[in-house]
Amino acid sequence: MKIAIVGAGISGLSTAFYLKQKLPDCSLVIYDPETRPGGTMQTVNIGGFLFEGGGNGFLTNKPDSLQLVKDSGAEHLLLPSSDLARKRFIFHNNGMHRLPESPPLFLKSGLLTMGQKLRVAGEFFVAASDSDKDETLQEFGYRRVGKGFTDVFLDAMVAGIYATTPDRISVQAAFPMVVALEREYGGLFRGMIAKRKKGGGPGGVLTSFRGGVGSFISHLKKTIDAEWQLGCPVTGISRDMAGFQVKTEKGSEEFDQVIISAPAYAAADMLAGLDPELTGRLQKIDYSPIAVVGFGYEELEHPLNGFGLLTTSAAGLPILGALWDSSIFPDRAPDGSKSIRIMIGGQRNPELVALDDKQLLKLAREGLRKTMQIDKEPDSIFIKRWTRGIPSYSPGHLDRVASIFEQLATHPGLHLCANAYGGIAMNDCVRNGRELALRIADA
Ligand SMILES: Cc1cc2nc3c(=O)[nH]c(=O)nc-3n(C[C@H](O)[C@H](O)[C@H](O)COP(=O)(O)OP(=O)(O)OC[C@H]3O[C@@H](n4cnc5c(N)ncnc54)[C@H](O)[C@@H]3O)c2cc1C
Repeated sequence: MKIAIVGAGISGLSTAFYLKQKLPDCSLVIYDPETRPGGTMQTVNIGGFLFEGGGNGFLTNKPDSLQLVKDSGAEHLLLPSSDLARKRFIFHNNGMHRLPESPPLFLKSGLLTMGQKLRVAGEFFVAASDSDKDETLQEFGYRRVGKGFTDVFLDAMVAGIYATTPDRISVQAAFPMVVALEREYGGLFRGMIAKRKKGGGPGGVLTSFRGGVGSFISHLKKTIDAEWQLGCPVTGISRDMAGFQVKTEKGSEEFDQVIISAPAYAAADMLAGLDPELTGRLQKIDYSPIAVVGFGYEELEHPLNGFGLLTTSAAGLPILGALWDSSIFPDRAPDGSKSIRIMIGGQRNPELVALDDKQLLKLAREGLRKTMQIDKEPDSIFIKRWTRGIPSYSPGHLDRVASIFEQLATHPGLHLCANAYGGIAMNDCVRNGRELALRIADA
């Protein structure tokens, strides 16, 4: 069987890896416009500082990424985050506050008033909703834990994960586990207590790779036996009696099956000739823009004692947050040096991602000055803009995805597998890729 993988991000690579495990005789061709695989997972070395263009790892509370690492023989690359990374901060009301990790610390925290804290505790007594309505995270949060907690904790958290705001994201699509706690146990506290009794819990350790996520991507590239068509965007996909035709600038090649693991908007363009209806449905998935600015300091007085900080919308700052990279994974900076990555834009300030380098650097410096009182010229600078960085999972997302897959089912042999549909975290992408490979192998 001859299979095309269109898009060499972690979704496409995971699918490719498990296809080769299950169907060793299949012939794979992997296409990507970039000259290196990995999609948003990429590491750049600037003067000895390692900067990630996108995510810096995965959480071990789900097994999928860890399993792929083991299955592909990359355990030697695993790098758990340092203990310092447990300490996180929220910048709100003109001050840095430690993210409380226990009920006593929550009670002491200056992030909420006593009334707002009592409202959070009152979640225990809020009746479960019996509606199937697709709520925003804001609607869900206001209903269950109150406005105070939502506008501070959930606002900062959703900026950090999805680069969006609580009123623009579907809680069912983006946080299905939270919705399940209410549905199955009647509430979040009730659910967490029940899960803890069963030995489960959210937890998990943030884990990355020695040399950055790029080293795992390079490992996968060496491990996956495929024809690599890098620097080669797919421009169209059509179908005839013989199978699918994948078109590139180099010509057209025939396949039995095609897996599109490119972003939804790119998939939409490729499929315009084959199925305009499917194209229209794919175009409805929108993305949050985000810019990543990395600063490396050969000497920095600030101890960077923790994981980093997230800001609240109410803080009115030009940055979504700052990750203290060299404290999380010490190999990200040369000995004695320190590094920070600053996130800018998102749905909060989408226009900022279009700024030129000089203006972006100015905002990043302003963000650090106002939150951490760091006002020092960095020795190394990294800038990466993602104009369509993270799928927004806006309200109605689950219906949009269902309608895409309903239409896709009219094209047996054509598959979609990327972070736009069933989860954005690395663990989700790997799981979806593996499950698709198993379905193809078992068919
Ligand atoms: C700034 C940022 C920070 C993040 N942080 C984290 C994190 O800490 N933890 C985490 O788990 N996740 C994080 N994520 C999300 C996570 O990295 C992604 O969801 C995941 O890597 C996406 O993988 P993917 O393969 O689905 O898509 P992508 O990585 O987007 O890959 C899609 C690929 O398709 C290719 N493509 C596009 N057009 C074509 C075409 N015409 N033909 C062929 N190929 C094409 C692209 O070049 C790309 O290589 C972050 C994302 C961003 C942007």
